[in-house]
Formats: sequence, C-alpha cells, structure tokens
Amino acid sequence: MSTQPYRPLQTHGAVFPERGVHVGVYEIRTVGDPVLRTPAEPVRDFDKELRRLIDDMFPVMYAARGVGLAAPQVGVGLRVFVYDINGRSGHVVNPELTVDDRAEVVEDEGCLSIPDAAGERPQYAPVARAAGVTVRGLDRLGRPVEVKARGYLARCLQHETDHLDGKLFIDHLAKEERRRILLNTP
Ligand SMILES: [Zn+2]
Repeated sequence: MSTQPYRPLQTHGAVFPERGVHVGVYEIRTVGDPVLRTPAEPVRDFDKELRRLIDDMFPVMYAARGVGLAAPQVGVGLRVFVYDINGRSGHVVNPELTVDDRAEVVEDEGCLSIPDAAGERPQYAPVARAAGVTVRGLDRLGRPVEVKARGYLARCLQHETDHLDGKLFIDHLAKEERRRILLNTP
C-alpha cells in the first residue's frame, strides 16, 4: 500500500548501494500482470529462500516509498507480506485476517501496483475498510505472530491480505471509479 508519491517502478540491481543492500531482480508488478490476480499459495517451506524473499521485499517497498508490499507484487505467488507504517513494521507469512471492529472507515488508499499514466506515482481513491482487525500468521521461522491494529495499519493489513487473494483495492470501488483509474494506468 502507498501513502505518498514514489520513485522507481524498476528496482533492478542495488537500491541502496551505499548500504550494500541489493534487491536482486525484483521489480514491482503492475495491474494487468496476471500474478496480481492469482490467489497466492501458502508457504510450506520456511527455508533460506523464504528469508531472502522477505529480506528483499523491504528494500523494494522502501525504494518505492510504500508502507506495505505483498509477495505477488514482486512476482512471487506466496502468501507473504511486509509492512512498515507509523513506527510498526514486520512481515507475516500465511496471514489469516479477522475483523474486530466492523465500523467502516473511508480513507484515500493507493497501491504501488496501480501507478498513474506516467508510471511515477500511485493513484488514490477513497476505500471503506473495517476499523479494527487482527492478522494471525507465522514469521520467517514458522513461529506464530499476531498483529492487532486500528487506523491506517488496519487498512494496510486488509489491503495486503487482499493481494494474497488476487484482489486489488480498485475492486472495492464503484465501476466508474475503477474504470477511471484503470484508464489512467501506463
Ligand atoms: Zn497494493
């Protein structure tokens, strides 16, 4: 998920060469790429590859100035997301989301995978989300994790969990609004 303009869509190579952090071949996939519409598979192997994926997703998210990133957005069809918002950051593998507070909150939301026509920044639209949620899942080592959230983090957790089911935030919009956004993508 995104709250502000972002820089590169292409994140090949070293994003932060001065810190020696490489993101390998990952680039953020954009709407129209089938991987974004394919339900992701549960993670079964908590191996080195999974840990590398999670480690690589953070710099990709930061480089794009995002606050959340799901594995399908970097072309990997696994149920994993990372987030960093309002001082809370982490990752969740195989997340299950439950709604604690059904009250709907409407706020602007954007997605790194749905840029504007210039491919420079996300497009935003108001989306209704549940006010409070809990996500339960596993960490990189297969240990249970629980993230309880309200406000913008709750929105982010719903947005990222949607990605793992092949859903995008525009699916929550009225048809005309969805069309307006899709017509404005690169
Ligand atoms: Zn997104």
